Amino acid sequence: MHERLIEKAENEHRLDEVELALLLSSSAAEEPLAAAADRVRKKHVGDGVHLRGLIEFSNICRRSCLYCGLRRENEKIERFRLPPGEIVRLARNAKGHGYRTVVLQGGEDGFWSAAALAPVLREIRAMGLVITLSIGERSEEEYRAFKEAGASRFLLRIETTDRALYERLDPHMSWEARRMCLASLRRLGYEVGTGSLVGLPGQSVESLARDILFFQEIDADMVGIGPFIPNGDTPLGEEAAGDIHLTRRMVSLLRLLLPEANIPATTAMETLASGARVLALRSGANVVMPNVTEGDFRRRYALYPGKAHVRDTPEQCRADLTAQLSQIGRFVAEDAGFRRQGSMNT
Ligand code: SAH
Ligand code: SF4
Repeated sequence: MHERLIEKAENEHRLDEVELALLLSSSAAEEPLAAAADRVRKKHVGDGVHLRGLIEFSNICRRSCLYCGLRRENEKIERFRLPPGEIVRLARNAKGHGYRTVVLQGGEDGFWSAAALAPVLREIRAMGLVITLSIGERSEEEYRAFKEAGASRFLLRIETTDRALYERLDPHMSWEARRMCLASLRRLGYEVGTGSLVGLPGQSVESLARDILFFQEIDADMVGIGPFIPNGDTPLGEEAAGDIHLTRRMVSLLRLLLPEANIPATTAMETLASGARVLALRSGANVVMPNVTEGDFRRRYALYPGKAHVRDTPEQCRADLTAQLSQIGRFVAEDAGFRRQGSMNT
């Protein structure tokens, strides 16, 4: 039964909700799914692993997502906002370490208007770096201004396609508004990254199956999946963490259904289970986003506790990763890793 479904997914890149839910629920399917996803990864995106240098530039957020340590109600974290010059410096260092792409991620921090962020983007773009932004929901005009200033990719997870669950966990936010943001980004010509959390309290495997179909439907260029990790400073602090095996099966199924997508091995996976990053890379993933934020800011950007590599330096992260990749017969890709060939010639 599983064999037939996995074969179909590998050859046709198509499964329905019931089939996806069945595979997601089956521990016996995990290894054959990973093996099939690894073949599809090799065939469609090759052995190169794309590295994105992650710069966490503000942990100030106006939102109240119940799972996240950056939520405005959390008084336990020390807030920071890196000055423009510091962001540019980190980007220059990332370039020095050989990164071709940087991801600027932060809370929904009102300080960073289009006018405030544009000069930073221009300066980083002028270094020849490709820029991904991950700063939450904005108006289409702002997204346009960021794009004109040099951002070419945007990462905005839908978190879950279960609207009721989304609106329960993200108070005052609308699922439809988030979907419209993804549509705006697409219209503006961004490469669109999205994704979801695995193991949110009240989430079903059917809903995870629908997440995969949603990513397929919007033709996501990048899909990041991470297990939910309870944060003691949030209302969900006592809940159970997401299951690492279920997360791995999600990664494999994503590769089977979106063969060309960029799929990261996420820090949340590594945080939950040491070695999970490499395992994800062997189960369908082809991207890693090493943190290039420095010093204490790495610790203070606490979405969830125990974040992997929080004490490493950017240099260590990069060196460890290169070694790990060569052990599994993979290498750091030299190009900027656009999903759509010719979408930008850098
Ligand atoms: N504010 C922006 C970007 C920063 S949050 C946004 O929300 O889009 C980046 C991601 O961290 C979120 O999309 C969410 O999926 C993830 N995250 C937040 N809290 C988490 C937790 N407790 N466990 C695992 N991932 C979490
Ligand atoms: Fe803010 Fe993003 Fe955390 Fe929600 S997930 S509280 S928007 S940083």
